[in-house]
Amino acid sequence: MQESNKPAPGPAPKSAISGITWPAMPSATDALVLALHQQLSESQWLSPEQVLAKQLSQAEVLLAHAAQVVPFYRDRLAVLKGIKRGTMNMEHWRRIPILKRSDIQEHRAALVAKKLPVGHGKTLEVRTSGSTGRPISVLTTLVTRTVFAALNLRYHVWHGRDFEKKSARITRGKTAKQVPPTASWVPGYPSGPPLSFNVMNPVPEQLDWLIKEQPGYLLTYPSNLTALLRHSEERGARVPGLLAVATMGEVLEPETRDLCRRVWDTPLADAYSSQELGMIALQCPDHDSYHVQSENILLEVLDDDDVPCPPGQVGRLVLTDLHNFALPLIRYDIGDYGVLGEACSCGRGLPVLRRVIGRTRNMVQLPSGDRLWPSIPSKVLTDIAPIRQFQLVQQKMDEIEVRLVVPEPLAEATEEKVRACLRDLLGYAFKLPITYLDEIPRAANGKYEDFRSEL
Ligand SMILES: [Zn+2]
Repeated sequence: MQESNKPAPGPAPKSAISGITWPAMPSATDALVLALHQQLSESQWLSPEQVLAKQLSQAEVLLAHAAQVVPFYRDRLAVLKGIKRGTMNMEHWRRIPILKRSDIQEHRAALVAKKLPVGHGKTLEVRTSGSTGRPISVLTTLVTRTVFAALNLRYHVWHGRDFEKKSARITRGKTAKQVPPTASWVPGYPSGPPLSFNVMNPVPEQLDWLIKEQPGYLLTYPSNLTALLRHSEERGARVPGLLAVATMGEVLEPETRDLCRRVWDTPLADAYSSQELGMIALQCPDHDSYHVQSENILLEVLDDDDVPCPPGQVGRLVLTDLHNFALPLIRYDIGDYGVLGEACSCGRGLPVLRRVIGRTRNMVQLPSGDRLWPSIPSKVLTDIAPIRQFQLVQQKMDEIEVRLVVPEPLAEATEEKVRACLRDLLGYAFKLPITYLDEIPRAANGKYEDFRSEL
């Protein structure tokens, strides 16, 4: 299994020096990425204890920096006074207050470092797409961008991708019409042609484009992939030559994996990432579960009382970017939930995240006060009626609006069947008014949400 750790034999790094093809001499930027990836290919085999020790020692440097030059953290990190360098443990760590999204919105200026250590390079502003309301803006540095590229390379290597294939990306552009920029899709290596298409294009057009281009790989957001697969199933269409699908940027629902196997007969590998933190966890090459990218992120799974959850228990994901010295995110509650798993049989010491689960916004609230993540496999509904698209929106505690896109409105008896089926899946006798739409609109960030709470 250690073989998947090695870059695919054959491709040499991209050479930046004219006339030199072997051995390749990469550019300074690529050389940084390749050197980092080389270390990552070794660090993945460290034991969990070794990984944590390295993380804490990196975190100590970050904390010292934050306490000194980031006004927001000056008082917050006073809780660590008296702890000698090299002696910090997780108990000390958990004294640091949790950083909320609203803290970033309210104290943005105070979160920016007054001074950046040498070598961190130019800072760039990144605004999140605002899937949970007001967007936040953070800063990246040469360091965080290099780490992202090296982890992206790891993602390709782990999943055995053939760098010479054509790869298609369906993502956001700067506007709804703009074609997102294309660049070599493998950091540091020459790659097959990279193609891109704007995710705001209607799903049937996306599928036509894929069928015309026949890429070896497709990268897109999970919710867009779900829409593509549902549409393909309806049309009975496949993408010729497609070897594998990669998703990132949103939470992947288990149904999408099943759909991908069933409709396209194609493997799917997911990366859990965010704009503010980069790569957080990558799917294991051998399993559906994820490995936390601990060289980048210190991940905690906490319950409502901020106590660490044991493997198997759902908790909030609280994340620390170990390398962002420009706008440090220390114990940041990203708003997602997850479940830790037991050690992985692949032998990697990076902690296992068994599942990442969506946000509060995508949870049903029951009148009892309980909350749950609804799972509504589209097949269950399409078995009842020719439903093209659907969306459930909870606006009241006991009522959920059912939005349907259908060729023609359903007979009353069929509507009742849909309601009965949904009540069964939701586990509560909600009132379920049905509305017919021509199309389910995407959220502002380009995402389709099967379920959304507006409570
Ligand atoms: Zn594994």
